[in-house]
Amino acid sequence: AAKLAGRNRMSYFTASMQAAAQNRIRLANDMRIAINEHQFEMLYQPIVEIETGRIQKAEALIRWHHPVRGIISPTEFIFIAEETGQILTISDWAFGEVARELSRWREHLFPDLQISFNISPIVFQNKNDYSDWFEVLEKLNVPGSSIVMEITEGVLIVSNTQVLDRLAEFHQYGMEVALDDFGTGYSSLSYLKKFPIDYLKIDQAFVRHIENEPKDMALCEAIIVMAHKLDMKVIAEGVQDDGQRLLLAGAGCNYGQGYLFSEPLTAAEFEKLLESNRLER
Ligand code: C2E
Ligand code: MG
Ligand code: MG
Ligand code: MG
Repeated sequence: AAKLAGRNRMSYFTASMQAAAQNRIRLANDMRIAINEHQFEMLYQPIVEIETGRIQKAEALIRWHHPVRGIISPTEFIFIAEETGQILTISDWAFGEVARELSRWREHLFPDLQISFNISPIVFQNKNDYSDWFEVLEKLNVPGSSIVMEITEGVLIVSNTQVLDRLAEFHQYGMEVALDDFGTGYSSLSYLKKFPIDYLKIDQAFVRHIENEPKDMALCEAIIVMAHKLDMKVIAEGVQDDGQRLLLAGAGCNYGQGYLFSEPLTAAEFEKLLESNRLER
């Protein structure tokens, strides 16, 4: 009987693995026309000064409006795009979108607005020339300083001069660099010494329970103190209620991002928010 159960379990896993593989192949195929069919959309989630709640920046987050499956989250399709290499084309499109919106918003609503752009490790490792992105910004009269490049710790593992050169290139162009999901990857504190990083984004896993987990609060406090000593600013991700906001603000955290302030918004919604904020100023 045990043997039978074992065999059944085996075939169950095989079937579900096969289904997952088929799903990946289908999505990879569908993705090839998604840009031309205007199925991708960039959303913008406000990043606020944590003391005042004032919007300072926004993070650009991609969505896929699949004709059959509806909205597909980036956690479900980015890794497929990375496997097939389509992430390079998608990122070019995404960067162009962000630049276009930035130029309008900065001109009409918020001259100092910065947008955070998630750069996939695959793009970071394979795209050797960023002059096309720089040109997009120049054509639209958008300064490099309005872009924050978000990288993950995975990028820094491959410690080499290429990574340093790339980050230096972003900085020379005026861009800033944020280390995303800090504390969840293969963190090594030596990265913080070796690489020029402007912002640490504390992962939401540490923020979620700070109100009732003293150890999580201690980690957040320690990250904030360390970041400031290293001349970096801190963005807390996944801030969902005011209790969390107050604790983080008390610990000296600079910025917050999360459902407490706003969910990711469409460009039109974000623009409305900027308009109403401008009236308040
Ligand atoms: P991330 O860069 O760490 O982005 C933050 C994620 O947390 C977003 O998920 C956001 O919607 C979600 N979030 C924000 N506030 C809260 C909150 O208060 N509570 C909770 N539970 N979640 C919150 P999203 O949009 O699903 O993106 C997931 C990941 O996909 C991103 O994580 C990023 O790694 C990747 N991603 C998203 N857009 C892009 C893109 O344009 N290019 C690349 N390469 N990756 C992207
Ligand atoms: Mg991010
Ligand atoms: Mg993150
Ligand atoms: Mg609470």
